[in-house]
Amino acid sequence: MTNFVGHGRTTVTDPHELTPVDDWVAEIVRALAPPRRTTVPTAEAAGLVLVRPVDAAEPLPPFTNSAMDGWAVVADDLEDASGDDPVVLTDGGAVHAGPVGSRPTVTPGTAVAVMTGAPVPPGADAVVPVELTSSHAEGVAFHASPSPRENVRAAGEELARGTRLLPARHRLTARDVGLLLSTGVDEVVVAARPRVSVVTTGNELVPAGRDLEPGQIRDSNGPMLAAVVTELGCVATFAGPVRDTVEDLVRVLREQASDADMVVLSGGVSAGAADHVATAIGRLGEVRRTKLAMQPGMPQALGRIDGTPIVALPGNPVSTFVSFEVLVRPALRILQGRTDLLRPRTTATLDEAVTSPAGKRSYLRVRLRQVDGAWHARPAGGQGSHMLGALSRADALAEIPVDVTRLDPGRQVVVQLLVS
Ligand code: AMP
Ligand code: MG
Repeated sequence: MTNFVGHGRTTVTDPHELTPVDDWVAEIVRALAPPRRTTVPTAEAAGLVLVRPVDAAEPLPPFTNSAMDGWAVVADDLEDASGDDPVVLTDGGAVHAGPVGSRPTVTPGTAVAVMTGAPVPPGADAVVPVELTSSHAEGVAFHASPSPRENVRAAGEELARGTRLLPARHRLTARDVGLLLSTGVDEVVVAARPRVSVVTTGNELVPAGRDLEPGQIRDSNGPMLAAVVTELGCVATFAGPVRDTVEDLVRVLREQASDADMVVLSGGVSAGAADHVATAIGRLGEVRRTKLAMQPGMPQALGRIDGTPIVALPGNPVSTFVSFEVLVRPALRILQGRTDLLRPRTTATLDEAVTSPAGKRSYLRVRLRQVDGAWHARPAGGQGSHMLGALSRADALAEIPVDVTRLDPGRQVVVQLLVS
C-alpha cells in the first residue's frame, strides 16, 4: 500500500476544512520580523522605501544662474529696446557653465554672454536670449526689453536648505534619486533589500545544463523563483535542488535560515511519500501545514527557524508561481517597507466561460486585450498546475471568488496584472 504521510489519507478534501487564503497571508505576515534598515548611496536607492523623511541638504539652485543661452544685462539699460529700434550695449565677455575663475561684471552699458546654467555675473539682473539679439559693429544689438529677473534662476528659488523633500515610507523613484542628488542628499536610510533564500526539493530535479535520465525533470522553479524575487527588488540566493530526505532538508534549511530574511521552498509539502519538508522544518523550529482554499496551490506549510520565516509552496510550477504571487509577494513587500502589497489590479470582461472548483478561490492565467477602452480576458491556455506555457503567455491572474464555480462570457472578473 502507498504510504501517504502528512494528512494521512487520500480522500477528497471537504471545502470546509480549507484555510481561507487571506488567513494564511495573515499568518505569514505574523511570522515576519520588522524590516531591517540600512543606509545606502542615493544613487542606488531607486525602488527602496525611506525609513526617515529626507530634507534638502543644499539650496536649489545652489547659485544664481541663467535659464537661457543669452546676454546678461542691466534690465534698465534696455527699457527702450524693440524689434525695429534696438539698443546697442558693449560686449563685456562671456561666462560658461562650470567653475569660473575671474568672472566679468556687468556694468551699465555693457552685456556679458552667458550660457544656460552659467552663473549670472554680478551687476546683471536679467538675461536676454541670444535669439533676441544681433551682432553690431559696436557690440551687441538688443531687440527686446527684458523685465528684471527675466531668465534668471535665483539661488534657492526652488528649494531652501532644509525643505522637506520626501516623507518616511515613501518609495523612491528614479525621479526622486535625481531630486535628492541635486540637493546634495548623497545617502538615505531605507528598508534593506530582503535576503530571500530559494530552495527547491525533489529527487527528480536536475539543474540546467545537464542531460536528463529517465524519470528526471528540469528544475524550473528554482530559477523562476529566484528571478521573481530579484525582479521584486530582493536579494535572491538559490540553494537546490535538494534531495527528498529529512536529513538533506534539515542540513540545507539550517544553513539557509541563518542568513536570510525568508526562506521560500518549493515541493515536498503535499501528502506524498517523499514530502518531508514540514518534518524537516519541524526538526529545526516550528511548522504548520495547511490546505488552502486556493487553486492552484492548495498544500502549503509555514514555519520559523530561529526567527526566520520559512514559506513552503507546492512544487507544481504554476502552483509555485501563483502561491508566490498571492502569499509571498505581499510578505516580501512588507519586509521592503512597502504599503502597496499587491500587483496592480483592474476588472476585465470574460470573453470565454471559465470554471472554478467549489470552495476555492481560483487564480486563472489569462490574456488581456483592450476593446473600446475596456479590458477583456480569456484563458491563456491549459490551466493545469504543471502548465508553464499558459503562465508564460498570461498577462494577468484572474481571481474567481470562493463561492463561484462558473462564469459565462460577458461576466466581470478582477485581474492582477503580471507587470512590475
Ligand atoms: P511536489 O509538490 O514535490 O509533490 O511536486 C509536485 C509536482 O511538481 C511534481 O510533478 C514535481 O516533479 C514538480 N516539481 C516539483 N519541484 C519542481 C521544480 N523545482 N521544478 C519543476 N517541477 C517541479
Ligand atoms: Mg516533490
